[in-house]
Amino acid sequence: MSIQNEYLNGLMERVIQRDPSEPEFHQAVREVLTSLAPVVNARPELIEEGVMDCLVEPERIIKFRVPWEDDQGRVQVNRGYRVQFNSAIGPYKGGLRFHPSVNESIIKFLGFEQTFKNSLTGLPIGGGKGGSDFDPKGKSESEVMRFCQSFMNELFKYIGPDTDVPAGDIGVGAREIGYLFGQYKRLRNEFTGVLTGKGLTYGGSLARKEATGYGLCYFTDNMLRAAGRSFEGVDVVISGSGNVALYACEKATQLGGKVVAMCDSNGYVYDKDGIDLALMKQIKEVERLRIRVYAERKPGAEYHEGCSGIWQVPCGIALPCATQNELNEGSAKALIRNGCFAVAEGANMPCTPEAVEVIQAAGLLFAPAKAANAGGVAVSALEMSQNSMRFSWTFEEVDSRLLTIMTELYQNASAAAAQYGLAGNLVAGANIAGFLKVADSMLAYGLV
Ligand code: NDP
Repeated sequence: MSIQNEYLNGLMERVIQRDPSEPEFHQAVREVLTSLAPVVNARPELIEEGVMDCLVEPERIIKFRVPWEDDQGRVQVNRGYRVQFNSAIGPYKGGLRFHPSVNESIIKFLGFEQTFKNSLTGLPIGGGKGGSDFDPKGKSESEVMRFCQSFMNELFKYIGPDTDVPAGDIGVGAREIGYLFGQYKRLRNEFTGVLTGKGLTYGGSLARKEATGYGLCYFTDNMLRAAGRSFEGVDVVISGSGNVALYACEKATQLGGKVVAMCDSNGYVYDKDGIDLALMKQIKEVERLRIRVYAERKPGAEYHEGCSGIWQVPCGIALPCATQNELNEGSAKALIRNGCFAVAEGANMPCTPEAVEVIQAAGLLFAPAKAANAGGVAVSALEMSQNSMRFSWTFEEVDSRLLTIMTELYQNASAAAAQYGLAGNLVAGANIAGFLKVADSMLAYGLV
């Protein structure tokens, strides 16, 4: 789909020329600018006042060396990043990703997306993202600890509870957040809510672990109900078996769906009787084993090598919850052929642009990540509120706030799409609704 505004087209060209080797960032910017064309056509001051040019340029990029010692006493060096993308509506907020694929393009795309997502939650948080090309897989506990400590030895200079509040993402779970928070506390001699996703004994919020997966299902449920459908009795396929996927599986099952397949980066399991979540959690959360072990332990379940085959499994609802660009055009066509009627993105940008086009053209319901996976950051913001108050809410209290946030988020994205003549297009609706609050704040500040 092309961008229906000449100025935005030129801006897109400039973004590409400035950083030609950042395909993921270009992909994310193109999608947003395409959606924003009708808004900018109606409000030319957004171009004249420089808002659009500022929007696609991070406020700050911090890139640093992370030296650490492995168990053999050798020095290893990784690269760390923090992209502070936009603080128009609050302190930068967004996760840290530890994965060998991490580079500046990926962190910029994630930070850009985060800006709109955070705005959509209705909470006062700006957009940021960070991480490292460090791979926690196969490392010992002490190696992970030493890496996290070294990472924080540099990062602590740039973050703070009113400045920038990182959280987890791929490869950064409760264990890593514990090491990072511990090091920040040592360095600053402060006990503040500078990271979210913390353990419950030191300032974490109940329901944070569940929030992204639960929020995804709450959003999807709203979308399904508006179309006269529900999870009830429907086969669901969920890619990934990490934090988002596990809790999406839990909530989808509670809402009456049957999750029949999940994967990791090596392969997928198919269980016609529905995934046994307790067993899956034991394998992935407790023992940290490969997903193939599920099929070894669960009678009747099958393991298939290669994860992209998961989209060939017939289902009514598909929830891609692993990583970016994991669901391509061919996979989208297979889903449609097999009767899928709804796709909701739990991971960030898991569907390629071609896949989204095919899904939308076939009339499937489609929930974009920016809106559908905002539950994690929403509860992170609630964790910040609880830390500021030095008070904790119950699981039920946080979960009910999450449900309200995701319901309002669906309604706002839906209304924004309708207002600009794009009823039913939640991609456009989420981009527009997230953008307007950020843009109006930027306009209010004048050129900065
Ligand atoms: P985890 O590290 O907990 O889990 C990631 C899962 O995806 C693992 O099962 C991993 O398998 C799998 N995976 C990774 N790369 C690939 C690949 N190339 N192909 C197939 N499977 C793959 O991460 P999260 O669950 O936290 O995050 C998943 C996605 O959700 C990411 O896009 C993240 O940005 C997004 N997200 C996460 C939020 C959160 O609160 N955690 C909030 C909002 C978005 P393996 O173990 O083999 O690597």
